[in-house]
Amino acid sequence: MSASDRSLHPVSVPGDWTPAGWRGRLAAQQPTYPDAAALASVQEELRHLPPLVTSWEILALKKQLAEAQEGKRFLLQGGDCAESFADCESGLISNRLKVLLQMSLVLVHGLRLPVVRVGRFAGQYAKPRSADLEEKGGVTLPSYRGDFINQPEFTPEARTPDPRRMVKGHARSAMTMNFVRALIDGGFADLHHPEYWDLDWVGHSPLSDEYRRMVAAVGDAVRFMETISGGALHDLNRADFYTSHEALLLPYEEALTRQVPRQWGWFNLSTHFPWIGMRTADLEGAHVEYFRGLRNPVAVKVGPSVTPDQLLRLTDALNPENEPGRLSYIHRMGAAKVAEKLPPLLDAMRREGRRVLWICDPMHGNTESTSNGFKTRRFANIRGEVETSFELHAAAGTRLGGVHLELTGENVTECTGGARDLTDIDLERAYRSTVDPRLNYEQSLEIAMLIVRKHSQ
Ligand code: PEP
Ligand code: MN
Repeated sequence: MSASDRSLHPVSVPGDWTPAGWRGRLAAQQPTYPDAAALASVQEELRHLPPLVTSWEILALKKQLAEAQEGKRFLLQGGDCAESFADCESGLISNRLKVLLQMSLVLVHGLRLPVVRVGRFAGQYAKPRSADLEEKGGVTLPSYRGDFINQPEFTPEARTPDPRRMVKGHARSAMTMNFVRALIDGGFADLHHPEYWDLDWVGHSPLSDEYRRMVAAVGDAVRFMETISGGALHDLNRADFYTSHEALLLPYEEALTRQVPRQWGWFNLSTHFPWIGMRTADLEGAHVEYFRGLRNPVAVKVGPSVTPDQLLRLTDALNPENEPGRLSYIHRMGAAKVAEKLPPLLDAMRREGRRVLWICDPMHGNTESTSNGFKTRRFANIRGEVETSFELHAAAGTRLGGVHLELTGENVTECTGGARDLTDIDLERAYRSTVDPRLNYEQSLEIAMLIVRKHSQ
């Protein structure tokens, strides 16, 4: 690298790093492919396919995340727990995008901050599992690890990991991205007219007057912007939208890791903003090794068992030069534990002057099973973890810069509570997730309004 390059980009690639270097470490949560030659040939094919995102989009996002660290933006990251190949479908994609954009409008106007919008989609096809194998009626098969890897049906054919599925997942991710980009370029009519939003639920909330005032304020602001910009709501039409997924399946991520002309270093071009899941964040493990050499902004899920010392060492590994926008920590402690577990981490990072964007995932620490056999999350716990997190950050002198949510634009019944006060019985009506329970359309908008409310208190 020349001296002038270095002054433009003060951060360098670790000299001992290669995209395949993770292979020397223990890689948790990987499938065992029966045919190594088939896997190698898929990787070779993927290496030649066009990337899904570009380096300049990645660097633009990194800059926005640096601004969020400074309190000049707020991040909204959301989408399904796991995408499925079957759900790569226009209605589901556009409804999910719509709810995310509507939430971001509520946040922009309520927080008076620009919002960084990041989807959990276009590649969220690999899932960590608690066990490698599943046993049913005396038969033992590999666990379902997401559509990138195998299929959920309990048969040997469906459960055997098939590397060809990575090529299919890459194509589905590209179709999703293509459609999202087209929708955003075309503009969503519903977005410009809050009076078209599905807001019947608002009347069911004790906060209905407050919610109605919020929606009216968004409507006024949108009409005002349309008036001063001569009718075209340029800013909304061209809303930047970024993608993210858990970069779990390392053979896939490695094959999409590229060098690009006139840029130094390596980019993961399968997504703008990859994250490391809680189960694969071991400092000595393959995922941290792989992530440390990327130029993308990266995130790590942080659960209640992480100590301040471990977090600082992880920070050394992933952001040794304290680069702005590079590192985000997504804490997911659970409503019951957050007040005990989060403050020591915040204090350690602040004391050591480490730059990080703090994001709250109020979903994954709040999963429980109901007596009628559903995996659910209570809206009150989700809300509680977000609200408590705002307070803990304020008390620690740090800043909660974003939220990470599992949500869908559909009227599913997977999480209980919310304005309509869904009960365990309601879960039987429209439970569609094969993995974790998601906020539905109404609950998602309600959380956005509650964030605004908390922020302005
Ligand atoms: C997820 O985001 O779906 C997930 C598995 O989260 P975590 O790694 O935080 O458990
Ligand atoms: Mn999940």
